[in-house]
Amino acid sequence: MANNPMMNRSTCAYCGVGCGIEIHTDTNGSHSVKGDNLHPANFGKLCSKGTNLARTLTQEGRLLHPMINGLRASWPQATDYVASEFKRIIKEHGPDSVAFYVSGQLLTEDYYVANKLMKGFIGSANIDTNSRLCMSSAVSAYKRAFGEDCVPACYEDLELADLIILTGSNTAWCHPILFQRIKAAKQQRPHMKVVVIDPRRTATCEIADLHLPIKPGTDVALFNGLLSFLHEQGKTDSHYIEQHCDNFDAAINSARNDGASLNQIAQRCDLPTADINRFYQWFAETDRTVTCFSQGINQSSQGTDKGNAIINCHLATGRVGKPGASPFSLTGQPNAMGGREVGGLANQLAAHMEFNDQHIDQLREFWKSPNLARQPGLKAVDLFNAIEAGTVKALWIIGTNPAVSLPNASLVVRALQRAELVVVSDCIASTDTTQHAHVLLPATGWGEKDGTVTNSERRLSRQRGSVDPAGEARQDWRILTDVAHAMGFGEHFPYKRAADVFREHAKLSHQNRNSPRLFDLGELADLTDQAYDDLQPQQWPIRAGQGTPRLYGDGRFSTDNGKARFTAVRCQGVSHPVTPEWPMALNSGRIRDQWHTMTRTALAPPLNAHKPEPFVEVHPNDAARLLLINGQLARIQSPWGTAILKINVTDSVRCGELFVPMHWNNQWARGARIGELVNPAVDPISGQPESKHTPCRIEPW
Ligand code: SF4
Repeated sequence: MANNPMMNRSTCAYCGVGCGIEIHTDTNGSHSVKGDNLHPANFGKLCSKGTNLARTLTQEGRLLHPMINGLRASWPQATDYVASEFKRIIKEHGPDSVAFYVSGQLLTEDYYVANKLMKGFIGSANIDTNSRLCMSSAVSAYKRAFGEDCVPACYEDLELADLIILTGSNTAWCHPILFQRIKAAKQQRPHMKVVVIDPRRTATCEIADLHLPIKPGTDVALFNGLLSFLHEQGKTDSHYIEQHCDNFDAAINSARNDGASLNQIAQRCDLPTADINRFYQWFAETDRTVTCFSQGINQSSQGTDKGNAIINCHLATGRVGKPGASPFSLTGQPNAMGGREVGGLANQLAAHMEFNDQHIDQLREFWKSPNLARQPGLKAVDLFNAIEAGTVKALWIIGTNPAVSLPNASLVVRALQRAELVVVSDCIASTDTTQHAHVLLPATGWGEKDGTVTNSERRLSRQRGSVDPAGEARQDWRILTDVAHAMGFGEHFPYKRAADVFREHAKLSHQNRNSPRLFDLGELADLTDQAYDDLQPQQWPIRAGQGTPRLYGDGRFSTDNGKARFTAVRCQGVSHPVTPEWPMALNSGRIRDQWHTMTRTALAPPLNAHKPEPFVEVHPNDAARLLLINGQLARIQSPWGTAILKINVTDSVRCGELFVPMHWNNQWARGARIGELVNPAVDPISGQPESKHTPCRIEPW
């Protein structure tokens, strides 16, 4: 970008911790990265993925030019083609015959323009995001409990807590810098306790005072048992409940019905009674308790209920939004939170607005939209079902690889083959998804992109471009803006730079000041371009120039009456239990050094050294029974597909259960595409798939 050495502050491309990064460019144009000492998420530290980011700044494998039906095209040709094909299909079949499938990798500005184009101008809400696979159950749980999708806690709470519960979270591998912060806090304050609730004994158990290897699907029973225990032991905060909450009686009655005694809960969750008692006692005794939850809770056919069962226990003890005391969802992706803010999910509008008459009118007026969508659109799994059924005919995929990452991935491939038009914007040329594209649009990648992201603690940070875009790659917001112009909506998409989009987004968020909602970036609505460039990390809502570390600590929530709502939940188990035909339970998740479908992390050789090939973890008893030999190959079959993986015999998984990493795909290891195995059952409220439990069988290959 320049012949002089320079340094830009930016944000990591990977997980929801949102670490600050310095990108250094030397006089030869070579790049290196290090942690940003000034960023409050990481104070200079980086994990292995962040440390190796500079190695991914390569032209290797990049998509460099627009392509139409396999032939190189100019940008005007590609833009006009996408616009005219979308217009043709909309004219023939209506606005709901087209869709966007976007990504938590997008920056907020990209997400905002995509959402505005689809919902405000095409007139359909068929825009969903891979964040559906990541955090949508937490979103639904927060909305049910607090009236708004607001994470009440901040990272500092992890250092102030006396008890940290990590449930459904391999924090050590999936949010490594937060794990390091917890570990350091525990070393400084040895009385701090950590409870890990996870069917697997993961690397996170290194700091656990107690590990509960829970039976998959029984989390609601465990937390309902805790709620009953707190009530019976007189450890609930009756004043807080009376002053600040509704629906406690229904919740406690429901909780009691899930198990009247510790023994019953223990049997249900397949855990020792004494360990459950210890966990409940610690929770009851410890005011400063933070419960972190992540995909092990969210990726479930009852993910929303699981989130609410956790939040119920925090409401019952008045531990919400207080220093060292809160429920705290750890976001998977770097900008899943930003996507939630701009309405990137098919069932919400921009700026935390809902599909109700008041918000639809407000948004239509603000955007001057001719035909704002009035109904929620199709969530990810339903969307691909609709494409496969022929109802949705055109799809624009932006920055994600659904042929690998979605459950029932074979159906996803059939859907892409059936669609009349598949447009893919990506920075990578060859993926399992780009193979099916009629139009390929080269997008900028990390290091080239410019905009904002929001991390797990609601902190906005800038991603700043430090590297010239590869080939003809363009910013996603610009590609979308150009297509909006070509479709005839130009006057409503006047953006020349990312700052223009951000200012509009911030202004929109300030439209609702007479509502109890908290999401508000109004003070940033008039930033100059320079001030946008210089924007420092801060947590929304921003008031009098200050960010807000915690929400709801005063007991006033985002509901109409200002009270939080307990949710009555009952444990329902998993959607597809094991059977004699499919006797094993398949769990899928991340490994430490790869990200999603490996399109970027696999470019960094040191990251491939940690776990160089796909594998399946098998308990020794199962291995002995099924004649599975460590290091040899096994065939895993589920009702949805097949994979061939190397056997890793370990007692870190429960007997009767298997663990497989989610990352590999047909580009890197043929036959190891895990999405093919995973069942497509979803949570009925959030639409999040049950990626943590699929019935299957395994045999030597
Ligand atoms: Fe990046 Fe997450 Fe690692 Fe931080 S913890 S460096 S955000 S991958």
